[in-house]
Amino acid sequence: MDDTVFALSTPVGGAIALMRISGAGSRALLERLFTGRIEHRRVSYGRIVDGAGETLDVCSAVWFEAPNSYTGEDMAEISIHGSYAVAARLAELIASTGAARPAEPGEFTKRAYLNGKMDLAQAEAVMDLIASTAERSRRAAARQLEGGLSSIVSSYYGRLKRVCARLAAAMDDDTDEIEAGDASEELSALERELEALAEGGLRSRVLREGARIAIIGSPNVGKSSLLNALIMRDRAIVTPIPGTTRDTVEEAASIDGVPVVFIDTAGIRDTRDEVELIGIERSKRASGEADLILWLIEGSREIGRGDEDIRASVDAGKTLAVITKSDLEQVVFPDAGGRIGGIPAVTVSSITGEGLDELRRAIVKRLAPSDSEAVVTNTRHITALRGAAERISAAAALQQDGLGDAAFFELREAMESLASITGRSDAAEDLVDEIFGSFCVGK
Ligand code: GDP
Repeated sequence: MDDTVFALSTPVGGAIALMRISGAGSRALLERLFTGRIEHRRVSYGRIVDGAGETLDVCSAVWFEAPNSYTGEDMAEISIHGSYAVAARLAELIASTGAARPAEPGEFTKRAYLNGKMDLAQAEAVMDLIASTAERSRRAAARQLEGGLSSIVSSYYGRLKRVCARLAAAMDDDTDEIEAGDASEELSALERELEALAEGGLRSRVLREGARIAIIGSPNVGKSSLLNALIMRDRAIVTPIPGTTRDTVEEAASIDGVPVVFIDTAGIRDTRDEVELIGIERSKRASGEADLILWLIEGSREIGRGDEDIRASVDAGKTLAVITKSDLEQVVFPDAGGRIGGIPAVTVSSITGEGLDELRRAIVKRLAPSDSEAVVTNTRHITALRGAAERISAAAALQQDGLGDAAFFELREAMESLASITGRSDAAEDLVDEIFGSFCVGK
């Protein structure tokens, strides 16, 4: 990692682009390219010149001296004018010196992690923040970047470590039943809490990946129109001819800060038309994969067998009924409990916009995790938390059977699993310190 790397950190085409250089050779490189003053964390103004002394750009640059930089290494950040021509010429110039190579994707953040500037969960949060498309995803990623998740994980890690030490002490002295008894209570608390954290994570996954919402219903109920009204664009072709939406259309959008992906599906109904069958197959699959299903029923037409068949094919627990075309004379009404066929219903018109806000609120209520749940959003972290909880549960059982050694082993694995979230892999070493640290002096 002692080589020096460079990369353009912004897309070209804006007014300004940022060229970043990191590594031991950055200062020499900056001195060679840039005429301005070079002082730690100070913006200076100057020119970029090539070997022949020709000016490539007039710009500003900041110099960071290790370890006080993003990567923890010597770093330069040059703000050039954002055209492709300037960026390409500067990259060419840097590469031609032989003093630096193009950085790999994520390499600056990887270096920051390897140099201890951030842990793995924070490094992942950088990526999430860059990728965030909706306000709530941004908020969750920013909290993770600040170290919110890391400090929760490290507090669980600490608790586990103390249980391990207690178990070790109890093993050391067989008569110490009380110590072991305490441990089993703490173990079940830990298991419960980690499971709950992972559970919240499953709900929060939508903040990273976007909740998948399938829009299903008989031909002509107004699926494409609703999709368009909800995302206010005209991607799906709206047409009065039944069954023209033959394939699914996916559309990413944000509803009240929650990222969603709408899957517009072909109308589900019996048909011999092969192309339509494929579409219907996809509808069924999409509703299987969806986090939420919007089951559309036309408000101005009696509910037909087709509608009921569709109702029967979906998982009612994750379905919202939408009664469409409220601007026309209605013949379909929800029951006193606001439901249709046992499913909570919202009445809308895609033409007048009536009911759309209520539908948005209902969607968000179903999908969005609360802020306190949105601590874990990453599948890797959820898996690690689950893994730790399983090991702890195994350890508790083993300990109850008097198999202290095996329980101890399981707990170490649980610690490793937690440590993998932040990238701390010194669980074994850490335990040694804790265990011996809790021993009496002279033992
Ligand atoms: P899909 O086959 O389920 O995708 O239905 P479309 O969105 O293509 O709509 C079918 C027909 O119903 C079109 O003629 C739409 O203009 C009409 N339509 C859709 N939504 C509404 C609505 O809210 N009110 C009225 N009056 N007509 C609608």
